[in-house]
Amino acid sequence: MPIRKLGVREVEFYHGTLESMSRTELVDYQWLRLKAQLDHVWKTNAFFRDRFQERGITPDDIRTPEDYRKKVPLLTKKDLLVDQTDNPPYGNRLGVPLDKVVQTHLTSGTSGLGQEIYGCTRADVEHLGGMWAVNYHWVGVRPGDAVFHFWPIATMTAGLGSMRGLMQSGARYFLAAFFDTKTKLELMKRFDPKAMLTVPAYLTTLTETAKELGFDFRKDFPSLEAILVAAGAYPLSWVTEMEETWDAAIYEQYGSTQKGSGIAMSCEAGVGDEKGGRGLLHIWEPFVYAEVLDPATREPVKPGEAGELVLTPLEREASPLLRFATNDKVVLRSHTDCPCGRPFDGLEAGIVERYDDMIKMKGQNVWPAAIDSIVFADHRVFDYRGRVFMGTGGRETVEMEVEFKKDVPVEERLRALGGLAAALQERVGIRMEVREVLADSFDRVLFKGKRWMDERIKGLDRKRI
Ligand SMILES: [Zn+2]
Repeated sequence: MPIRKLGVREVEFYHGTLESMSRTELVDYQWLRLKAQLDHVWKTNAFFRDRFQERGITPDDIRTPEDYRKKVPLLTKKDLLVDQTDNPPYGNRLGVPLDKVVQTHLTSGTSGLGQEIYGCTRADVEHLGGMWAVNYHWVGVRPGDAVFHFWPIATMTAGLGSMRGLMQSGARYFLAAFFDTKTKLELMKRFDPKAMLTVPAYLTTLTETAKELGFDFRKDFPSLEAILVAAGAYPLSWVTEMEETWDAAIYEQYGSTQKGSGIAMSCEAGVGDEKGGRGLLHIWEPFVYAEVLDPATREPVKPGEAGELVLTPLEREASPLLRFATNDKVVLRSHTDCPCGRPFDGLEAGIVERYDDMIKMKGQNVWPAAIDSIVFADHRVFDYRGRVFMGTGGRETVEMEVEFKKDVPVEERLRALGGLAAALQERVGIRMEVREVLADSFDRVLFKGKRWMDERIKGLDRKRI
């Protein structure tokens, strides 16, 4: 269970009015903003006006959330890519003249379907920074606090938005993704950060490297209180291990390029709950209309249930979106699950993953996050990679290569491999060939990275030849 709980840190609002609204007030406020965004899009955006006209509707036909859900069609990545191909490079949905665009964001392309392109006006960039500023405030960052930022900065919203947010929150920030791990740690020792921003996989790398180089976590990073992660699922046992090692709390942020990042984030309560389960990331609902829909029925799920997240950003000037189907699998949580008292519902912490990450192994649907939670529950494991391929005789084979932390003795490694294979068979129901690889065999993940490869098609092609 996470070691830093509410009570250790006081709740401190960033936007007093928005954060102390009742749920009813919030829902009404959000609806007014959604109506205003529909009018804005109708008046300025040819792409959405065409989609409305094809269905014979105008914003006046949308009078209730149910109207919105039933009358406005879901927007998919494919729709956006077709628009970009027909109207390069931004697509017709840009909706503002080019001289209003100051920043261009590209999705990271993890789905393999192609990159979406988003223009941002100056107001969009400031809004995005403002979302992040809330996030930093909730995790405890105040003006003047040193914050280390380990995400690559290029054309991804995550890097640009999180940097802009640091600026707007008044933090003293260090953009350190460029440096090797040792240099990062030395810089941290010199400037004594209060918070850092990274991804779960890289935090493990940073931790193990710090141990190898003999850093003393409490003495060398005495002011560190908050570690903010995003872009990766994690088991709760990993949270406990990291919080104890660094003597700092783990927080999470869920964002996406489509929203302009910053959709949902941990409050002071962190990523766990009081009973040792998972906590929630509050959706920043005044500025994003989020639906969680059952993928089969397209009806809203109840709190506690899983579904696909569908987003309507309520602030975007350029490249707006209405009901974008993210393909992200989330679990909806009620605001009443969090002790902080804010009215915003949330997404369960630590488990967001993409529907297209699911792999069918030996006839079963397997989620990489479920495997991660088994593998990383063994704290001797540093990292792993898995692949599914057609082995000898065309037999479907699942193989896992495991890299151990450097201080794990050989005989323990052998025991761990056997234990992992048994645990995977028991809990996932699939027999995997689990073997060890040498240290430093895998590329280190700085942002999004995939641990699983599906090579069955390649195998079949080879067979056909
Ligand atoms: Zn909360």
